[in-house]
Amino acid sequence: MPFAVMALAAVAAMLAAPRLHHASPQHPWYLLGAAGAAFLVGALLRPWSVERTGWQALLGDAFTVPGYLLMALSLVGLLVARGSLQRHAIIDGLIVCVGAALATTLLLALPAASIDGRPPVVSVLAGLYPLFDVVLVLLLVSLAFTTTGRRPAYVLLLSGILLLLAGDLVYAIIGAAGHLTGGRIIDVPFLLSCTAIGAAALHPSVADLTRATAVPVQTWSVRRLLVIVPAMLVPFALIPLVAHEGGAERLVLAGGGVAMVALLVGRAVAAVRDYAAAQLKSEHQATHDPLTGLPNRLMLAREISRLLSTVPPPPSTSGAARAVGEPAVWVLFLDLDGFKLVNDSWGHEAGDHLLVEVARRLRDTVPEPAMVARVGGDEFVVARLGTRDETVTLVERIMERLSAPVQVISAEVVITPSIGVVGTTAGMAPVPAVAAVTAEALMRDADTAMYRAKSDGRGRWTEFDASMHERVRERVEIELALRQSLATGQLRLAFQPIVELTSGELVGAEALIRWSDPVRGPISPAVFIPIAEDSGLIAAIGRWVLDETLRQVAAWRAEDLVGPDFWVSVNVSPRQLRDPTLPGKVSEALERWEVPHTSVVLEITESVMIDASTVTDQVLFDLRRLGVKMVVDDFGTGFSALGYLRRHPVTGVKIDRSFVDGLGTDAEDEEIVRAVVAMSTALKLTVVAEGVETPTQQDVLSTLGVTVGQGHLWSAPVSAEEFTERWLALAVLPEKTTQDAAGSS
Ligand code: C2E
Ligand code: MG
Ligand code: MG
Repeated sequence: MPFAVMALAAVAAMLAAPRLHHASPQHPWYLLGAAGAAFLVGALLRPWSVERTGWQALLGDAFTVPGYLLMALSLVGLLVARGSLQRHAIIDGLIVCVGAALATTLLLALPAASIDGRPPVVSVLAGLYPLFDVVLVLLLVSLAFTTTGRRPAYVLLLSGILLLLAGDLVYAIIGAAGHLTGGRIIDVPFLLSCTAIGAAALHPSVADLTRATAVPVQTWSVRRLLVIVPAMLVPFALIPLVAHEGGAERLVLAGGGVAMVALLVGRAVAAVRDYAAAQLKSEHQATHDPLTGLPNRLMLAREISRLLSTVPPPPSTSGAARAVGEPAVWVLFLDLDGFKLVNDSWGHEAGDHLLVEVARRLRDTVPEPAMVARVGGDEFVVARLGTRDETVTLVERIMERLSAPVQVISAEVVITPSIGVVGTTAGMAPVPAVAAVTAEALMRDADTAMYRAKSDGRGRWTEFDASMHERVRERVEIELALRQSLATGQLRLAFQPIVELTSGELVGAEALIRWSDPVRGPISPAVFIPIAEDSGLIAAIGRWVLDETLRQVAAWRAEDLVGPDFWVSVNVSPRQLRDPTLPGKVSEALERWEVPHTSVVLEITESVMIDASTVTDQVLFDLRRLGVKMVVDDFGTGFSALGYLRRHPVTGVKIDRSFVDGLGTDAEDEEIVRAVVAMSTALKLTVVAEGVETPTQQDVLSTLGVTVGQGHLWSAPVSAEEFTERWLALAVLPEKTTQDAAGSS
């Protein structure tokens, strides 16, 4: 009776608890509940049925055996839910099963069957129950092989099944001795088993049992061997036993032995095959790009080296360039124009899709055996052997093929490539003759040529020539000189007044860097700022510019030369905005110079918004939170999308001087300025016109609603001293500043 009560409670627990703890899927628990119910009915019928003869004698087993089946199905359900049914785990399980089957059949089932006075089927079944339990334990152990932590629900479930095994073993042993039912004591394991399994279902960790986990790498662990080796030894251990027995026993043992050997062979074959497959896969992964499946940089470098070894070395003296018609190694470096824009507008998935499509088109266009590789985000390289003419034809075909529209999500986009081309022919000849041509050198030169193609305008191709090396060297030299000038304090700031358009009243100024190299003379920031950006020097320069600007503003404020509303705008380059510590540095500098946050405006470029990463976004947001205003410089020259302005915390725009230029003569420029003003008004952004040179431009801007401007009409950028003299010292401070040009949205 206690057993019946306990079993009922366990069944109830299994039907209710998984839902309580949100185990998913739930069907393994319902199956387990059904198994419990079957066991209960079987156990209640058993004392009665064993007294019967004929089919009635089997009535108890008729419930108990399906109970085991349901339980096994439930455990398989758990395994499947975890995604952990693997071939070798199954084979290992089968090996143990065969061992257990041999032992139970020969030691328990067959002896029991030979007992007279009852149907052999009943006896055999009684002897086989422990085998069922072994199968259950195995399934559960397989579950254990897929996790590292043992959760309480798992331990309880395993205990329950082990107790079931113990109970069944006792029954089988007394069964082999002729008894089919035992006393109260014998039922204790079953009682405990029910309790344990019911408790497992009730424990909150039950949900973890079905949670899919990454399957750990399977190796021959000691634990695994401890389970498998004894099972493999069973046939040998049983040999002495069957030596004196009849044919049936010998046949069972022989069959078991054969099955065991077959499984072992299967296990070995599977292991070798898995190993070979893993080997191939890791080799492939190391040399290929996972997204497009194309070879990666590593494999490309190997291939170019191989190609180089197949052509005679390039001429060693500069005069004797190899004839153009001769086959040479050609490297094409492709970069997709505007790829970042696609990634930004449609998301990374669209970007990936585009890359895969480009890879496919490239592979289609470039004939074998040339290699097509992906060497970076949107960078592809083609390496081939051939003549210059063939290569030029190929480049033009690639250009055409890649420029066809691509369907990305719901839009069609046109992506053009910029291509740099280099070959081990004439173009390479003037390269220092001693340097051997290496794969790295070819890739670097193709890359250089690609950059040149890009700066000449999008969708072009350029062949490398030695003057490009010249340019690179010049850039390196400029960088070095700039570094020195920064260190020795030779950089200066110029200030250009920003005024109220109609009255010409001063409202602010833009700080612009000035550099005069001792050897080269003055160099335009338009030339050296990009170099400083590329080399990373811009961070130090940017810090200096901000510090120097604040020092100057603080000095003007201290001398009461500027009012509280006067502001200075400082140019910050995209690379500075990628530094997450920038807001902290800006804030620290403002505090150090005791300049209010509202007296500084940062000028950012449109490209910052277009290429914005999460880091940049955060930096912009943090800067804005400091109270620092931000305007978009050179507005209109980039992609000027309304969406960008809305998504970023900018407070104003500066209309690029290329649009101001045509005002009064070019109706289109007027329309553009009108549109920018309308949009800015709608978004509550301030507008400054840059590069105002003539009174006509000033008038038109006023008519169009622009109120603040900057340009040679009033003043070119001048030194701080001159600015002080011309704009501050003589000026009578206005009572109240009418204009807050940088705005405050
Ligand atoms: P920007 O920020 O658009 O600066 C305005 C440029 O237009 C300045 O050239 C200025 O001298 C020029 N300009 C002003 N009024 C007129 C005008 O009426 N007509 C004409 N034709 N030009 C005018 P500058 O000083 O050569 O600076 C060029 C660019 O270099 C700047 O463009 C800015 O992008 C960058 N730059 C300058 N200083 C810094 C700096 O400290 N940090 C960073 N990151 N970039 C800077
Ligand atoms: Mg600027
Ligand atoms: Mg500008």
